[in-house]
Amino acid sequence: MEVTFWGVRGSIPSPGPATVRYGGNTSCVSVRLADGEVIMIDCGTGARNFGRSLLAGRFGKGQGSGTVLLSHAHWDHIQGFPFFGPFYVPGNRFTVVGGIQGSELLERVLERQMAAQFFPVQSYRNMGAQLDMRAVPDDREVRVGAARITAHPNPHGPTQALAYRIHADGKVLAYASDVGYPESGPQGDTVDFYRGADLLIHDCTFTPEDRAERMTRGLASLDDAVEAAARAQVKRLALFHYDQDYSDHDVDELVRRGRRLLDQRGAKAIEILGAAEGLTLAL
Ligand SMILES: [Zn+2]
Repeated sequence: MEVTFWGVRGSIPSPGPATVRYGGNTSCVSVRLADGEVIMIDCGTGARNFGRSLLAGRFGKGQGSGTVLLSHAHWDHIQGFPFFGPFYVPGNRFTVVGGIQGSELLERVLERQMAAQFFPVQSYRNMGAQLDMRAVPDDREVRVGAARITAHPNPHGPTQALAYRIHADGKVLAYASDVGYPESGPQGDTVDFYRGADLLIHDCTFTPEDRAERMTRGLASLDDAVEAAARAQVKRLALFHYDQDYSDHDVDELVRRGRRLLDQRGAKAIEILGAAEGLTLAL
């Protein structure tokens, strides 16, 4: 399984000289499986560059098929949707999975941002590719090729965001962005959902100090990410979804501090890194 980060920022794109190394695009991660299956997790503005990379291959010829997993529909997770090139090539086929409240709602939300007031294409049906919108089923399990994908709803302020666990090629990737845990941090079935992952991509929007002042945002701090990784005994933790005002230097400091916290917690074996645009990890 090959995992690539295309957008690692939360809330709003933040281009500029202070964010060159980690990147300013919003949430988008791609997963390529050994059998060639292509999965995109979240469709923030990073999806534009991911789409461009795909157009060089079969997706440019209308012969591609892929799966899009959406954690939720806040702007920083869907704004790349109208700018994802392979959606405009007739013949391509995508299954879009998200929203535990039904496929009609998922479709309505995505369709709304295509309306003429927001975007000239007016409807996702005008994009060319075949898009099949599907709600996560009641058993929260989706099969993509040989991959077994499960979803888990996490609290996210006034709403929820789905975490995903992808089990394929003998490896496990867990993705948990936009997570507002209670004060006690991740517990019980949430920890079980991440357990033993080869890579946990976890929301790390804030330092603990900044999160304390912004509890109602429903987003995670560095402490939450470290606790999730340590309690679930994952192998590798990738910090993700940084606050738009954090510079590259601030993110470097998050990673350094996260390393110290893991060591203090007796979790020296867990590798920690800061997700950065363009970074590919092989699991
Ligand atoms: Zn977000």
